[in-house]
Amino acid sequence: MLKHNWTWALLGVIALVVRFFAVQFPAKTEIIYSRSFFPGIRNVIDVSVSRLPFPTIYLFLLVLGFIIFRYFFKVRFKKGWKDKAFYSVRYFFNFVGAVVFFFLVLWGFNYQRVPIFQQLSLKPIPLENGQLMKELDLTHNILSQLRPHITDSDSAIQQTLDFPELEKIVRATTSENLYLMGLNFTGNPRTKQLYPSGLLRKLGILGIYFPFTGESYIDPTLHPLDKPFTIAHEMAHSYGVTNEGEANFIGWVICTNSDNPLLQYSGQLRLFRYQMKDLYKKDSTAYRTFLGQLNKGVRNDLTSIADNNRKIVPISLELSRRSNDLFLKTQGVKAGVNSYAQLTMLAYAWRKSLKGE
Ligand SMILES: [Zn+2]
Repeated sequence: MLKHNWTWALLGVIALVVRFFAVQFPAKTEIIYSRSFFPGIRNVIDVSVSRLPFPTIYLFLLVLGFIIFRYFFKVRFKKGWKDKAFYSVRYFFNFVGAVVFFFLVLWGFNYQRVPIFQQLSLKPIPLENGQLMKELDLTHNILSQLRPHITDSDSAIQQTLDFPELEKIVRATTSENLYLMGLNFTGNPRTKQLYPSGLLRKLGILGIYFPFTGESYIDPTLHPLDKPFTIAHEMAHSYGVTNEGEANFIGWVICTNSDNPLLQYSGQLRLFRYQMKDLYKKDSTAYRTFLGQLNKGVRNDLTSIADNNRKIVPISLELSRRSNDLFLKTQGVKAGVNSYAQLTMLAYAWRKSLKGE
């Protein structure tokens, strides 16, 4: 029986068939998976493996190592090339099947849920020049008012909270504020720093939600002002938000609704960077004029973040960009990596909806 065991390959295929139907029924997927099944997984992970004080992806890698070792160990005993080939093919398909199965069951079906901005009736439409300038002014004013609550100095903020303290605050703020967006907020997901330092950034990412272990990781070398927002972004993924633009948006709402000035500042600063990028693309002269009028402290923070970004260059930005783009597109995110940049539009739509427009 074991000789012809295709269980994992079969489970992978079944998961793909379920996915085929999930794609066609987002509202059902939302109710059955995202709001019923997935919160169960969330809670089980959060009270068990995630309590371990180290990134559990290390355990995952250990298991992966064991699976590879087991293949080489077993294939030696197969007699003749035909048996060896058959065993290898079966092992490979079972392995791929298990990956597909666990990915979809543990998190991936959330790709087929009803988009969050649709649930919130937000319509992300590109901003006209005048609207963008108003938004930039607003964000800049908020930043200028927040900054004195964090530091008295105009020089760049280089140090904030220790990571465990920061993670605790962002976790608490996340579960307190998710109701604002009508999302499921049971569970208590973790975000951990992944060592070796710089590894994630070398791969071209700041942080990642890893469905196989149910926790997210950020790079320890991120700028201290980048960390609060990035944790909040990963937390949004942990609660079943797959789209990058939506995770950015939710991270921003969470940070900006916090009582903590550092979280607010980190969230607004990220929005500000997207808005500045948009202005630069639209009108580089206006961008330069705007840059010249920035609050000194805010400008120093932006420079400090840019310096930090230059310190670690991804091995292949193009490769990581393309693979992420391809991954997102295979999951039905049509905008691919461009979905990250929707924050400007979503924040604008949110601010408008709060004003009741
Ligand atoms: Zn993300």
